[in-house]
Amino acid sequence: MSDQNYDVIVIGSGPGGYVCAIKCAQLGLKTACVEGRESLGGTCLNIGCIPSKALLHASERFDESAHHFKDLGIDIPAPKVNLKNMMAHKKSVIDANTQGIEFLFKKNKVEWLKGWGKITSEDTVQVGKESYTAKNIIVATGSDVVSLPNIDIDEKKIVSSTGALELAKVPKSMVVIGGGVIGLEMGAVWSRLGAKVTVVEFLDRILPGMDTDCAKGMQKILEKKGIEFKLSTKVTSAKAGKSDVALEFEPASGGKAEKLKADIVLVAVGRKAYTDNLGLADVGVELNERGQIVTGECFETNVDGIYAIGDVIAGPMLAHKAEDEGVVLAEMLAGQSGHIDYNLIPGVVYTHPEVASIGKTEEQLKEEGTAYNVGKFPFMANGRARAMQATEGFVKILADKTTDKILGCHILGPEAGNLIHEVAAVMEFGGSAEDLARTCHAHPTLAEVVKEAAMDAFDKPLHM
Ligand code: FAD
Ligand code: NAD
Repeated sequence: MSDQNYDVIVIGSGPGGYVCAIKCAQLGLKTACVEGRESLGGTCLNIGCIPSKALLHASERFDESAHHFKDLGIDIPAPKVNLKNMMAHKKSVIDANTQGIEFLFKKNKVEWLKGWGKITSEDTVQVGKESYTAKNIIVATGSDVVSLPNIDIDEKKIVSSTGALELAKVPKSMVVIGGGVIGLEMGAVWSRLGAKVTVVEFLDRILPGMDTDCAKGMQKILEKKGIEFKLSTKVTSAKAGKSDVALEFEPASGGKAEKLKADIVLVAVGRKAYTDNLGLADVGVELNERGQIVTGECFETNVDGIYAIGDVIAGPMLAHKAEDEGVVLAEMLAGQSGHIDYNLIPGVVYTHPEVASIGKTEEQLKEEGTAYNVGKFPFMANGRARAMQATEGFVKILADKTTDKILGCHILGPEAGNLIHEVAAVMEFGGSAEDLARTCHAHPTLAEVVKEAAMDAFDKPLHM
């Protein structure tokens, strides 16, 4: 038994865990963070958000230089992909970020307990041969990939997102199972680099849960770029052979089976909470039917002194959701109060153009029976978007019919992931479409499209 006693031990150093640990330490709590990986930062920094964005950025620049420089009056020889160097760029971005967390731990005096943690009682965590005690234990162990029956992920030919971030060469063909966020982002990367990508989606639409107009628009744009979609279709098996993968698929509602071959198959059908070998059953922590840790309003589990945040509990599996939960829980443990409005967590798909969403969709408002106004404005009518040759898409703002309060915003277009945040800030303060429309926006900016959509919601736009 170690003599190390802490106020807080966080298990897992992803965006939920590392942020929570730093905030706890900043609030004066003696804090340690257990992480079994070689580097800090969790799924997000090592095999998720950060490496995928490094490849999305690099592949987008390749696509731009190969296909769009000419229209801007820039003549260059046909660019070539140097995958080894592109992967080196990705690695350098991961290293800079994960080492940055190590630096922040040292700066804030968070101790990294290296190894896999197991909860052995309500105040004790075992790491290797050592046991450590804490007044509060926070589980932030994140999520893991899931597969489908009859499909074994080998991370070589049949890959999850982890393998798709590591391919040694550009495949000639790739089948992506699942038209969600990972499927579209990783499909876009390999399509831009030269693979023939086919996305097989079980539902009759891509990006379930996001605004339908954005999803339909996104699909059209990706189709123009050469990605093929098979909607309402289920893959029933995928078998890796010597040189390729043989797939069988059929209509989602059942029917005639078809066959397809691909060099690489990416399985991107969602993720599951990760609680393996944590000892939760032994200490009696309750899980729901989806394997997620059940938590109350203050992230408390049913066992006193044990809390959980991030992908391992219910809610959207997003890094910023995990981070916000980490901050709020740290504040609560330090005797302060904190709050998260789960309606105001933005979602972004980092394709080109991007899709970004916050608040309610039209489908949700209709279901609730809320009367609303729609304001919509296209990037096509914006000077800056034309100068950037980025005219595809629109901003849609949904506002309460009676009060004009903004209820949702959905953007398909350039920089959507950045543009959504001014709407997020207005919504945090309960603002209206008129508030947004009467805020002076610099010209010429893409943000003027947000302003015009807000004008359209409460009155009428000027530039249409
Ligand atoms: P995680 O980041 O999963 O971290 C959990 C950590 O706990 C891991 O490092 C694990 O090793 C550690 N751990 C587990 N068990 C133990 C144990 N017993 N002992 C010690 N350590 C343990 N989200 C976004 O918001 N934006 C994006 O652009 C985005 N892109 C993504 C791209 C991909 C390819 C993937 C897979 C995910 C992406 N996500 C994105 C989702 C995002 O990565 C997760 O929502 C986020 O990482 C969740 O954070 P977390 O702290 O809950 O868990
Ligand atoms: P997802 O839930 O976004 O998409 C999974 C897709 O697979 C859905 O469209 C679903 O209908 C489809 N599907 C399910 N079973 C199927 C089947 N048998 N055949 C065909 N299609 C099937 O999940 P994901 O894309 O795997 O991503 C996992 C998590 O990671 C998500 O919760 C997401 O929030 C997070 N993530 C976020 C980002 C981002 O914020 N930009 C990027 C990557 C991942």
